[in-house]
Amino acid sequence: MLENYLIYLDFINKKLQKFFEAQKPYMFCKKGCAKCCQEGEYPFSQIEFDYLIRGFTSLPKETRLKILNNIAEIKQAKKNHTGDKFLYQCPFLINNECSVYEHRGIICRSFGLIYTVEGEAKPKIPFCAYEGLNYSNVFDTKTGIIPTEKYKSLNIPQEPLAYNVSYKFLTNESFEKLYNFKFGDKKSLIDWF
Ligand code: SF4
Ligand code: SF4
Repeated sequence: MLENYLIYLDFINKKLQKFFEAQKPYMFCKKGCAKCCQEGEYPFSQIEFDYLIRGFTSLPKETRLKILNNIAEIKQAKKNHTGDKFLYQCPFLINNECSVYEHRGIICRSFGLIYTVEGEAKPKIPFCAYEGLNYSNVFDTKTGIIPTEKYKSLNIPQEPLAYNVSYKFLTNESFEKLYNFKFGDKKSLIDWF
């Protein structure tokens, strides 16, 4: 089943690569920027988690120990957490880099693009637009929109676009049927441990 998931992953990677390429004038992702791994919930399905663990087991012992230590700390922090959402730094982020990059989850691959959500009129803008990163050259933080005049004034032929790449869409059952695998349960990454 994991092999079929990898075929699906290859398809998704190619699609996302095209979208990121098309949106290049609005992208400020670069090596060392890991803000999107520093605070989040990181939904992972069973199959994504299995693949992540495949990457984890091939890491050097020292890195594995660091990750296990991170996991223990996060689990403890979660136990002490009160309030709504528990947000945390991904335990696989080591020295500000993803230690399991090739094996990372789907949410990790699509983050950074504007995306649409079924049933919602307004597209979702990545949070880093508010931090001077992706789309910040066209996004108006006060109004929460991208004014047409703003991107036109930059003379960029490609307009900023929202894509159908929500986690919910990318992990829907039509892909399971098409590629013959199951995503399985979905939960926050830390809850798999
Ligand atoms: S998506 Fe945003 S936070 Fe994440 S690496 Fe790119 S610029 Fe940085
Ligand atoms: S698995 Fe890697 S890319 Fe995904 S949140 Fe963790 S550190 Fe970031």
